[in-house]
Amino acid sequence: IFISFEGPDGAGKTTALQNLVPLLKACTDEELVVSREPGGSPISEKIRKIILDITDDHMDDRTEALLYAAARRQHLIDVILPALNDGKIMLTDRFVDSSVAYQGGGREIGMDEVAKINDFAIDGHLPDLTIYFDVTPEVGLARIRKDHEEAMDRLEQASIDFHKRVHESYLKLVKDNPQRIVSIDASQDPDMVVADALAVIQKRFPD
Ligand code: C5P
Ligand code: MG
Repeated sequence: IFISFEGPDGAGKTTALQNLVPLLKACTDEELVVSREPGGSPISEKIRKIILDITDDHMDDRTEALLYAAARRQHLIDVILPALNDGKIMLTDRFVDSSVAYQGGGREIGMDEVAKINDFAIDGHLPDLTIYFDVTPEVGLARIRKDHEEAMDRLEQASIDFHKRVHESYLKLVKDNPQRIVSIDASQDPDMVVADALAVIQKRFPD
């Protein structure tokens, strides 16, 4: 079983995922593997650093999209496919929808264009289920500022218009992929968000 967690910055998916893991462990005998993107394997974490730590603002948008896709490919090969081949439950904090929303919509490369290079990278390995944590850019960015204003990464610091395009793109992905992507209200209090995510997973995979 392959499940991805998606959402704009400040949606709280990382924290929710941490709190979800013990609850999931309690209801299954299968082993859980938890990972994140960009990153998740040694090469992919190096690529993450290149993308997020550069301080001058000259990374070309398509370069950025290709780096994310490259990091994803290596993460798939090193972590995701081995876990799935062993029958484990694979949970990843972000996957292909992040690229389509951030680089396709946010950077305005085009959602279809970015989906295409990612098709090459993932070679058909889409998640069985994607949980989308929905939060408006206003709420999401306010949470980030409260949490780590002094240490916001290059992408978190992007303009509000960028984050609005990311949000709109996610909503389009949800609309276009109703069988795969389930949206939950991430503006609720954290316990409710975790409960909703757990309910979605249990409904989709009753055993
Ligand atoms: O999810 P996480 O906070 O670790 O993501 C790190 C940063 O990378 C975030 O600021 C996020 O907006 C950005 N990102 C991106 N494009 C992706 C994936 C993540 O801009 N495809
Ligand atoms: Mg973040």
